Amino acid sequence: MNNLTINEIQRFSFDSSNVRGERVLLNKAYQEIIKRKDYPLVLEKLLGEFVAAIALLRDIVKIDGVLTIQAKGNGFLSTLMTECDEHQNLRGIAQWDDSQVVPDVISLKEALKGGYLAITIQPRNGQRYQGIVELVGDTLSECLEQYFSQSEQLPSRVWLAANGAQCGGLFLQRLPDEQAKANDEDAWERLTHLASTVKEEELLGLETGELLHRLYHEEEIRLYEAKSMQFGCSCSRQRTLDAIMSLGSEEIREVLIEQGSVKVDCQFCAEEYEFFESELAELLGDEAKIH
Ligand SMILES: [Zn+2]
Repeated sequence: MNNLTINEIQRFSFDSSNVRGERVLLNKAYQEIIKRKDYPLVLEKLLGEFVAAIALLRDIVKIDGVLTIQAKGNGFLSTLMTECDEHQNLRGIAQWDDSQVVPDVISLKEALKGGYLAITIQPRNGQRYQGIVELVGDTLSECLEQYFSQSEQLPSRVWLAANGAQCGGLFLQRLPDEQAKANDEDAWERLTHLASTVKEEELLGLETGELLHRLYHEEEIRLYEAKSMQFGCSCSRQRTLDAIMSLGSEEIREVLIEQGSVKVDCQFCAEEYEFFESELAELLGDEAKIH
C-alpha cells in the first residue's frame, strides 16, 4: 500500500447522471479510536464500520454541528457509537460485556440481539433531529439503507469494511432528477450494481481514484477535493461538569465525602477531569456543603 492516501474522505459524481458518491479510507483516526479499550478484533471491525459510516454521512449533512450514529441492543454488545463534527473530528466507542465469550465472527444484529439504530443531527444552533430504525438488517450497511428509505430521504447505498487496521466505505446517492441528466434513466441501477461488486480488500486497499476506475472504468467521473479526517474528542471541563451536575446534589455529595473529589475519565479519549468541593459546593448551593 505504498503512497496510499488515507484518513480522507472524497466526494465524486458521475457526469452523465444524477448520482453522487463518497469514499472514505481511514487508518490513523480509526486506530486512535480502537486503541482506547482492549477491544476484541470482532468489535474493532464492527466499530470500524461505524467510524467509516459516520465519516460518509457527515459529509452529506450540511450543517455546523455534530452527527451521531448510535446502536443499542441487548446482546453481549450493548452500545456502538460514533460521532463526527463539522471539522471532521471523529470519535467512537463500543460497550460490551467482557464476561461473555466473544465470538470471532458475528453480525451486528447478532452482537446486539435486537435493539435500534439512532442517527442524531445536533446543529450548533438549532433543533436536534433524530431518526431511529429497528435493527432489522444483519449489517450496519443494511440498517443505514433502511434508515434512508424509511426517512424518505434520497435513495442511498452504503458499503463498509474494517479490519482492525483500516476502515473504509463507499456511498452512493441518487439526487433529484435534473433536466440535463435525466436521459440516463438506468444509471442508478447500473452504478449501484457495479458498486456491489466491491471487495473488502479493494475498499481498504485502493486509492479512491483507483477504486473508482476499477468499478467504473466506462463512466465519466468527477473527483472533488479530498478532506482530511482525524480523531478528535469534544469533551471539555465544562461539559464534564454539566454531566456531573445532572447527577443531582445528593449523589455528588456522597462522592465528595467518600473520595474528597469527583473524578471523571472521558470514555472516548481517556482525558481525566477532577473537581473539588470548592468548585462544586457553590454550584450545589449551601445545603450541599460538607464541612
Ligand atoms: Zn474526551
